Amino acid sequence: MPMDLEVVATSQDRPLPTPNSFSKPFWEGTKRHELVLQKCLDCGTFRYYPRPRCPQCLSANTEWTKVSGHGTVYSYTIVHRPLARWFKDKVPLVCAVIELDEGVRMVSNVENVDPYAVTIGLPVRVIYDDVNDEITLPKFEPVPA
Ligand SMILES: [Zn+2]
Repeated sequence: MPMDLEVVATSQDRPLPTPNSFSKPFWEGTKRHELVLQKCLDCGTFRYYPRPRCPQCLSANTEWTKVSGHGTVYSYTIVHRPLARWFKDKVPLVCAVIELDEGVRMVSNVENVDPYAVTIGLPVRVIYDDVNDEITLPKFEPVPA
């Protein structure tokens, strides 16, 4: 049987995160369309990615806190070559480091904008991509002027 090189990409080809015991509350939050971050109960520092101890004071005391979902583009690149088949018709896309108002940085996509109009410092807000019953991805779009 000849190999079909023009196979249409399916949702199974899409790389998705696997929630673990530390990140599960984060993914439960995005499912509710809420951005929640761990906040240290001893020094008040927000942290992302989810992890057991505060990177500032090493405390394990933490609470999940709903945040604004607003931030700015700290850095970005425009991806032209799809690195997985699912992205074949999604490029060009913006892969960005978003600095949230709470001070943490998160890698995500900036959408609903011409990729070439994205700039460092662009004000953005979170949007939610409901991928399936388990995963909702937080993404970002420019804040309307
Ligand atoms: Zn701390």
